[in-house]
Amino acid sequence: MRIESDIKLGFKDVMIRPKRSTLSSRSEVSLMRKFKFMHGGKDWEGIPVMAANMDTVGTFEMATALASEQLFTAVHKHYTPDQWKFFMNKNGNAISEYIAVSTGTSKQDSEKLDTILNENTSLRFICIDVANGYSEKFVAFVKKTRDKHPDKVIIAGNVVTGEMVEELLLAGADAIKVGIGPGSVCTTRVKTGVGYPQLSAIIECADAAHGLGGQIISDGGCKVPGDVAKAFGGGADFVMLGGMLAGHDESGGELVEKDGVKYRLFYGMSSETAMNKYAGGVAEYRASEGKTVKVKYRGAVANTLSDILGGIRSACTYVGAKSLKELTKRTTFIRVQEQHNEWFGE
Ligand code: 5GP
Repeated sequence: MRIESDIKLGFKDVMIRPKRSTLSSRSEVSLMRKFKFMHGGKDWEGIPVMAANMDTVGTFEMATALASEQLFTAVHKHYTPDQWKFFMNKNGNAISEYIAVSTGTSKQDSEKLDTILNENTSLRFICIDVANGYSEKFVAFVKKTRDKHPDKVIIAGNVVTGEMVEELLLAGADAIKVGIGPGSVCTTRVKTGVGYPQLSAIIECADAAHGLGGQIISDGGCKVPGDVAKAFGGGADFVMLGGMLAGHDESGGELVEKDGVKYRLFYGMSSETAMNKYAGGVAEYRASEGKTVKVKYRGAVANTLSDILGGIRSACTYVGAKSLKELTKRTTFIRVQEQHNEWFGE
């Protein structure tokens, strides 16, 4: 046993220190970013905020809404090849820039992925997603997928440490999903004691990835637009959101009504709800590592997006960053013991 005693930070432990700025309005800030990928395909341009590949968030409806503003969606893995074909026929090839096909690492997952990619050749992003990206089997799957699809952009995760980011990039991934346990409906830290405070994970993993020319996606733990700004400030290239995009018209999850108030169900992909839906229940050898919650219905996602993007733009003006790319260079985090004033509630 060994103890690492330097402190690791989450979003709640820091604030971004304001800096002298020549910007007079947040409208002067550009959130567009352009990325060159380490292995697969041509450059990408867009706003690097992503919907999570959860069936309550990464839906086709969400993808359509986000793509119209050049944001990205990791579409969840439970759509059938026929549903993919129908969606792609309806939306045309342009949407391929803003969506990834998600997959697990089983033989059936792999066959389904191949079918979807063969039938929709314009798709160019693959998201290989497992709860624990540290296994040899996972690295082998990333390698195999790279060999099979040399021209695709491969997203792989989740991990939280630099050495594993490097290993996955060298195995053929282009962008690494970073985050174990920070998610809003995740109970991994409670059930297993395993995890890593998200801001430190971002800072350390971004450093490792950028050294090799790869990217990272901060996945999970953002509760407010300020957290998204902190994730970018810490060096995340993309930020993936689950809970912040739940509860909308475009989100999945059953609509329920209680005392005249509308809610949408939102649940972790390892929750009992998800396992009952897709795996015939929780297998005997495992515990569920996700919660099921009710999120107040919030209407169209466009309003929430304006709020999130407005917050990031404003963060950029506070530190004098004309573009999102400059935010991390202009970020100084201060460690704090308080965040916002909760006098009148959250
Ligand atoms: P959020 O933005 O809601 O804080 O986090 C979303 C992320 O939580 C997802 O992208 C995924 O990485 C993670 N997640 C989703 N479902 C589960 C689950 O059931 N268990 C765990 N441990 N993590 C989950």
